[in-house]
Amino acid sequence: MRFQNRFQRFMNHPAPANGRYKPTCYEHAANCYTHAFLIVPAIVGSALLHWLSDDCWEKITAWIYGVGLCALFIVSTVFHIVSWKKSHLRTVEHCFHMCDRMVIYLFIAASYTPWLNLRELGPLASHMRWFIWLMAAGGTIYVFLYHEKYKVVELFFYLTMGFSPALVVTSMNNTDGLHELAGGGLIYCLGVVFFKSDGVIPFAHAIWHLFVATAAAVHYYAIWKYLYRSPTDYATLMTKLY
Ligand SMILES: [Zn+2]
Repeated sequence: MRFQNRFQRFMNHPAPANGRYKPTCYEHAANCYTHAFLIVPAIVGSALLHWLSDDCWEKITAWIYGVGLCALFIVSTVFHIVSWKKSHLRTVEHCFHMCDRMVIYLFIAASYTPWLNLRELGPLASHMRWFIWLMAAGGTIYVFLYHEKYKVVELFFYLTMGFSPALVVTSMNNTDGLHELAGGGLIYCLGVVFFKSDGVIPFAHAIWHLFVATAAAVHYYAIWKYLYRSPTDYATLMTKLY
């Protein structure tokens, strides 16, 4: 209680069972900035993977992953700006909130796509390439039908979608990058604690954003290092530069 009093300026009361948490203006600002600052790095990072691609399949994969990565930060930033400055436009805000939730499903699918597309997989495991998009579509439909109604179900969907492809990926012959993949996954899971702590911990949602950014960076690093980077690319770059 004392903790809540001390941070009263920065945090409101937790949301009612079927309602949404109302952030303070400090929290709104933090929610916007924590993802806005990542839009440019996401675009640059995606362009780098595209540039490093050796063939058409790698290029397409870089596009899918890049679009998912950039969409996550752009949609999240726009939603938080609308939620902060235009909350009186209820329908618009509601629409952006659904997009913010929907883009998480697309982002999870996009994050696994480089591993599923560019690594050697068994005949059964390779079906995960399209199945993950089916799950993302299912999640999207769920958001539009039951948005915010059953919060536990929503969390269950995110976690199922986050973990089930990991079972396939860990069965790959080439295990390079699995530590980074698992590390990123663990960071996402730890972040969920804050995702669920609005009104209990000040700036909980912004802290969740930082966990997402860190986990996404770890996953990006693994994709760049193990799936796209090759020593010859840098030799070419160096000869171009000097
Ligand atoms: Zn957010």
